[in-house]
Amino acid sequence: MTVIAAYEQRTPRSRKHFEEVAQVIPAGATRSLNAWPPHPVYLESGAGMVVTDLDGNTYHDFLANYTALPLGYADPDITRALAEQVASGTVHSFSRTGERELAELLAARVPSVDKIRFTGSGTEAVMFALRLAKAYTRRTAVAKAEGGYHGTTDEVMISVRPAANLAGDAHAPRSVPEMAGIDESRVRETIVVPFNDIESSAAILRAHSDRLAALILEPVLGVGGMIPADREYLAAMREVCDELGIVLVFDEVITLRIAPGGAQEHYGVVPDITTMGKIVGGGMPIGAYGGRADLMALLEPRGGTDVYDARSGGPVLYQGGTFTGNALSIRAGITTMSKLDAAAITDLNAKGELLRRSVTEAVAGTPVALTVTGIGSLFNLHVGVKKVHTFRDLRGIDAARQHQLFIALLNRGAIIAPRGMGCVSTCTTTEDIEFFARAVNESLIDIT
Ligand code: PLP
Repeated sequence: MTVIAAYEQRTPRSRKHFEEVAQVIPAGATRSLNAWPPHPVYLESGAGMVVTDLDGNTYHDFLANYTALPLGYADPDITRALAEQVASGTVHSFSRTGERELAELLAARVPSVDKIRFTGSGTEAVMFALRLAKAYTRRTAVAKAEGGYHGTTDEVMISVRPAANLAGDAHAPRSVPEMAGIDESRVRETIVVPFNDIESSAAILRAHSDRLAALILEPVLGVGGMIPADREYLAAMREVCDELGIVLVFDEVITLRIAPGGAQEHYGVVPDITTMGKIVGGGMPIGAYGGRADLMALLEPRGGTDVYDARSGGPVLYQGGTFTGNALSIRAGITTMSKLDAAAITDLNAKGELLRRSVTEAVAGTPVALTVTGIGSLFNLHVGVKKVHTFRDLRGIDAARQHQLFIALLNRGAIIAPRGMGCVSTCTTTEDIEFFARAVNESLIDIT
């Protein structure tokens, strides 16, 4: 039986639900990523690493909502904290004191953060961070890496996964809108650099320096294949940004988990602004952006009015968001980030290392090539390629087999992202990792 036929046989209720829900929700899912052929599975519940679907199948979830749940599902401390908080309100008209606790916790850990503001999502954090950089520099354009994902606003929905025939030269990538409807004027204002290519990136930044407000980088390309930056690349980008007066933004929405102070601590390269999300909310919606005090000062009204910033001579940056800083996200965030101390992160990273090693060993000699990338507790499985150092290396991926691997793993009770992303959580055990390595090995045989 093919892996697809086996999948259909295991998931008839999800199939039926898909057909019905697609009548009212386009593609049957609110997140585009959650709609895949032949039909998605729908999850009912989760505890620890284990989730259950509509048909009663259970899975070890190595995706953990795209790395957002470092403590797994329904962690007892978070559940308790949320229940307590619900009893005194979920979101309030004025700020509450909990924001200070989470802000102090993050500022103490993350080297670049003097001050920080919370947002409703990582997407919003990036949007506000880039606006701040533009206001600070009085420039209009931003630069990002090819393959970099920074949420879904127009200015960063550029060259995330550009089609090979549109993407241009590897050393001078074109700005390619990800989809129809992206504002053309923004496409012109988003400059794309090749990740991990120092010379070409520096030359591109120099060529556009008079209009570049910010360079935004993920220290590890996340959605773009969990490809770690070379330390020299980040250090060189830091230097070039200093030389050209460009604000360097690290998007640590995914990478904050690799060290107590995020990837910037791991690499020893400090940006001007950092964006965060996912783990910071402990499973509740959140984003945050923080940075140097003089940059963040643009968010502070001076002279007793809320519309005038004396220093820049323009209006102070305004930040809205009805549910931003809501009590539930903040409480879950404090609980999670407190539990995720240095010892917990060391342990998590050791498990990630073990998983990458175990999978690499388990697939040696299988008929289909598979490369495991990642760092700390993060990984990505790439089918059909032997070496991955730059985003363009992913061009060799066997997309059909990559999807089959995803389905074959579901059949064997393991969840990763359709494109291969995954992570470990604090509740991942050595047995879970052994199970996963075995499942990948057997799945590769299934799809041969
Ligand atoms: N930045 C990075 C690096 C991300 O991986 C994501 C989401 O996956 C975002 C930003 C957007 O965050 P959100 O989905 O919370 O809007």
